[in-house]
Amino acid sequence: MSFAHLGLAEPLVRALEAKGYTTPTPIQKQSIPTLLEGRDLLGIAQTGTGKTAAFVLPSIQRLVNEEKRVLPTHCRMLVLAPTRELASQIADSARDYGKFSKMSVATVFGGTSINKNRQDMARGVDILVATPGRLLDLIEQRFVSLATLEILVLDEADQMLDLGFIHALRKIVRMLPKQRQTLFFSATMPNAIRELADQFLKDPVTVKV
Ligand code: AMP
Repeated sequence: MSFAHLGLAEPLVRALEAKGYTTPTPIQKQSIPTLLEGRDLLGIAQTGTGKTAAFVLPSIQRLVNEEKRVLPTHCRMLVLAPTRELASQIADSARDYGKFSKMSVATVFGGTSINKNRQDMARGVDILVATPGRLLDLIEQRFVSLATLEILVLDEADQMLDLGFIHALRKIVRMLPKQRQTLFFSATMPNAIRELADQFLKDPVTVKV
């Protein structure tokens, strides 16, 4: 089973080959075809399983296929992560996997210059990777708009709850278009996380690795 068999297009397969990845991991096998169809996904998976590629690859393909132009300050895909470290790793992966697909990627997290974030977002980006607090600041200052978002990814949702991001998350999700694809990843599924997933996802496919 190869990445091309899962339905990924040539520019993505080429980016994977450049990294030396030829065989999809279990979460990639289970998630990629479903995500390419546009379904919502609840992924119960730890870091190290290849989950970043599992959500980044099909999302890039859907963004490319839609051929929509991004508006100033807008993004087409938002990935929310609990920490700066995770946000920058996800952004690095998105740049890497998207390098033959002409995807623009920006990161927004606390501890960096808000002015730099504003400049990065001025023309809009395809993929924005953010921590919830800084993203809300930028939205409130009108430097970021989520009005035309197509894909939302919540990564490490259990960590986000532990770090007290629940209110920020709810606030952000309320601003999103109802018509969107939502991906929700968590290593554990306590009741609070399951309830949040039920609120954010529409008829999701569940994948557990
Ligand atoms: P993640 O679970 O997303 O943090 O990924 C764990 C590590 O596995 C990262 O260093 C990835 O670059 C790597 N990786 C992801 N998919 C594959 C694959 N199909 N084959 C080999 N390595 C992979």
